[in-house]
Amino acid sequence: MRKPIIAGNWKMYKSFEEAVQFVDTVLDKIPSNDKVDAVICAPALYLPTLVQVAGESDLAIGAQNMHYENEGAFTGEISPTQLASIDVDYVILGHSERREYYNETDEAINKKVAAALAHNIVPIICCGETLEEREAGTTEQKVAGQITAALKGFSAQEVEHMVIAYEPIWAIGTGKTATAEDANQVCGAIRGVIEKLYSAETAKTVRIQYGGSVKPDNIVELLSKEHIDGALVGGASLQPESYLKLLEAAANA
Ligand code: PGA
Repeated sequence: MRKPIIAGNWKMYKSFEEAVQFVDTVLDKIPSNDKVDAVICAPALYLPTLVQVAGESDLAIGAQNMHYENEGAFTGEISPTQLASIDVDYVILGHSERREYYNETDEAINKKVAAALAHNIVPIICCGETLEEREAGTTEQKVAGQITAALKGFSAQEVEHMVIAYEPIWAIGTGKTATAEDANQVCGAIRGVIEKLYSAETAKTVRIQYGGSVKPDNIVELLSKEHIDGALVGGASLQPESYLKLLEAAANA
């Protein structure tokens, strides 16, 4: 059985005070991590404080991006070494907003995945199609290409520690969720890609999240599907109540 993983992606929202207050509020209400992995991916600026506030609790803290080099003249960037030095557990890589607005390529994402693993940071690797690609019927081809490129050069053992997030771009922040059936079909196709690249055993182990307008009222149906092991959540992760509802749903899935 794959343990569900719910990761909040706060993007560029929340003041410092609001961020700390959120973590303070949810901390003693997080379901046990025997049942669900709870993650908040916060703005980089807040990470050291949130890691400290979360302490030994079952809430893990993640970053939303990082560079692949350990150090260097890269103004404004944050390195895997730096994230590891403050005990960040997860990092979102290749989010569609980064691919679109910051020209992140599959090659760069592949290097970032390697850097994350080298520092014991779990990568949450994003993939997903545009509306045009969905309408043209090329969704599975698109995500297969992104995942194959992201996983290039890794062993089965390494892949088993990764998390993949399938996020149709047209469903992000729009209130339009993919139907649970459609989401499950693409997550299943991603599992098929991993099976082809590695083995059925590896494909069975990797956790695949769905993301795109996930809310407390659609999470139960999404999680009831065979290939969906959790969610990467933007808007609905910003309020403690809805974030906790998502965790509860996953803990009981
Ligand atoms: P959303 O964002 O839940 O607000 O649609 C999801 C994401 O971008 O990860």
